[in-house]
Amino acid sequence: MNAKNAALLKESLEKQNVTLVAVSKTKPKEMIQNLYEEGFRIFGENRAQELAGKYEELPKDIKWHMIGNLQKNKVKYIAPFVDLIHSVSSLSLLQTINKEAFKNDRKIDVLLQLKIAKEDSKSGLSESEIKDIIQDLNSGAYSNINVIGFMGMASFTENMDQVRGEFKQLMGTAQKLIGRDILNIEDPVYSMGMSGDYKVAIEEGSNMVRIGSLLFGAI
Ligand SMILES: *Cc1c(COP(=O)(O)O)cnc(C)c1O
Repeated sequence: MNAKNAALLKESLEKQNVTLVAVSKTKPKEMIQNLYEEGFRIFGENRAQELAGKYEELPKDIKWHMIGNLQKNKVKYIAPFVDLIHSVSSLSLLQTINKEAFKNDRKIDVLLQLKIAKEDSKSGLSESEIKDIIQDLNSGAYSNINVIGFMGMASFTENMDQVRGEFKQLMGTAQKLIGRDILNIEDPVYSMGMSGDYKVAIEEGSNMVRIGSLLFGAI
């Protein structure tokens, strides 16, 4: 998709109150710059060092989102500037992010990644792990972290009924926690949907989609 059409997609999603994260992993900075010039300001990456390198080289008003599996020893590379970490999939990772945020004298926004896909390769927290984390959060254990919502990745399948069911599962769990005041979040972020399934995700309540190949091509 060319940059003009990408901007049209971004605008049409904004009209539906859906934030588009342009997933620029593996893409050269020229391609990011092209979308930047069309008004894109939110880019997602899945490797900490690649993200930190692009942060250095590209305009400083870009909001960088970490969307992929994050190793604890890599958090330090992105902690000074990262705008949102989508992929908190363990309590120990949350602890590390809190510590690195403290060192940088800032609060870092994060999403709790819920495991919704049947595939073992997709990581994420179970509902009971999330409940444990929330207990810690509510006791004030992580003063340098803001949990602002949830993220999920559906199974990689053509079966859109299955995908829809997995998104429904995320929304059900989230609303159970938020609705019963177990977790207090003002305007929760629901990060669900990629190039192949973002329309289904939006129908199921997503308000943040992470789109890579549709925008940049599948190279
Ligand atoms: C790569 C990636 C995406 C984007 O996938 P596309 O199918 O290229 O849109 C979204 N979310 C995560 C976590 C990713 O790693």
